[in-house]
Amino acid sequence: MITIPIKIEEKKNNINSDNIVYIKNLPPLSIYIHIPWCVSKCPYCDFNSHSIDPNSINEIIFLESLRCDLEQSIPLIWNRSIISVFIGGGTPSILSVKAIDKILEMLRTYLKILPNAELTIEINPGTVDSSKMKGFKDSGINRFSIGIQSFDNDNLKKIGRIHDGLDALKSIASARYLLENINIDIMFSLPGQTISNFINDLKIAKSFDTKHLSIYHLTIEPNTLFSKNLPIDLPDEETSSEMEDLIESELKEIGMRRYEISAYSKDRFKSIHNLNYWTFGDYLGIGPGAHSKISFHNRIIRQKRIYNPKLWMNKAIKMNNSHVIEDICIPNEELPFEFMLNALRLKDGVSRQLFKFRTGLSIDVMKEKLNIAYKKKLLSEDNEKFIATHLGWKFLNDLQVIFIK
Ligand code: SF4
Repeated sequence: MITIPIKIEEKKNNINSDNIVYIKNLPPLSIYIHIPWCVSKCPYCDFNSHSIDPNSINEIIFLESLRCDLEQSIPLIWNRSIISVFIGGGTPSILSVKAIDKILEMLRTYLKILPNAELTIEINPGTVDSSKMKGFKDSGINRFSIGIQSFDNDNLKKIGRIHDGLDALKSIASARYLLENINIDIMFSLPGQTISNFINDLKIAKSFDTKHLSIYHLTIEPNTLFSKNLPIDLPDEETSSEMEDLIESELKEIGMRRYEISAYSKDRFKSIHNLNYWTFGDYLGIGPGAHSKISFHNRIIRQKRIYNPKLWMNKAIKMNNSHVIEDICIPNEELPFEFMLNALRLKDGVSRQLFKFRTGLSIDVMKEKLNIAYKKKLLSEDNEKFIATHLGWKFLNDLQVIFIK
């Protein structure tokens, strides 16, 4: 079924005099490329991913559509430098080495990618072997993000992953042999998972001298298979929160620090790409369903592309921007929430000045909301930074929603 969340006729650019801001220096810019396919759909997944037989992907048409999408976006980011590229999905490693090489070549042709830019690809065990990973590295990829979720065969089966524990170990070992900068995704509070089972997953993840871990609580999202058939053996709240408490103490032992709500890293291995999101930087997203946030000196725009891969391809190659289903100027009154939603995820917070630099607005526009957050003791009354208190960090959603217009 084709789902188009917003009709093309509704596309608008709502710039008006109330919306004008003044942004002196444009923020750093990242590129996100969405690969919309997976070998099979995991029952908890609400991403824009569609199961496909990898052999049936027409890479030539997909790459040409990506090129057309990028070419139509160039006027929005003309002459700006790129600090990071993230090839995500879906399962990007479902594509051939040649396809990833062509994508990177296309980016280098059209854009000014900084020499020290972080270039990440998401890979899933079961879709890669060591020679494929080497091919990605030879194309210029300098960071792997590996979707492991668990090392336990029973856990993996219950959450519908296509790999087993051994595939997971092999993928990490190959990735670590090729690159120092790798991220491992781990999930907890899985059906039937016990504390000792989770500790075992953490211990294995730690054993690879991993520099970055992203650790997520399994959440049941609407419109997923799990939301229709809820697993009966999900850990209770108390067990989940015990697992959460364990993460920080286990990782501290090896010098890994939590720097964002779900991210842990060793010193110089924080994700440049994700930090750019959390500090309200700019990003151009190309590919089906990709989102963009792009600043100009007088406005900030948000774009969304058509979600359905086939429809997106059909529209992108027409070169009339009809693959973009939303193109709006973010209203000034929404900027405080958008900024805080991201910035407050960072454990060390962000400098207060950054709000003006990124939004072009004075801090005074959110004076009342700040006072509410201070009064509830969710936000620290720090003169230099916006930073959540211990309580605010614990109830981050409650803190973030204060800034909704
Ligand atoms: S591999 Fe990742 S993107 Fe694909 S269905 Fe599973 S969770 Fe979703």
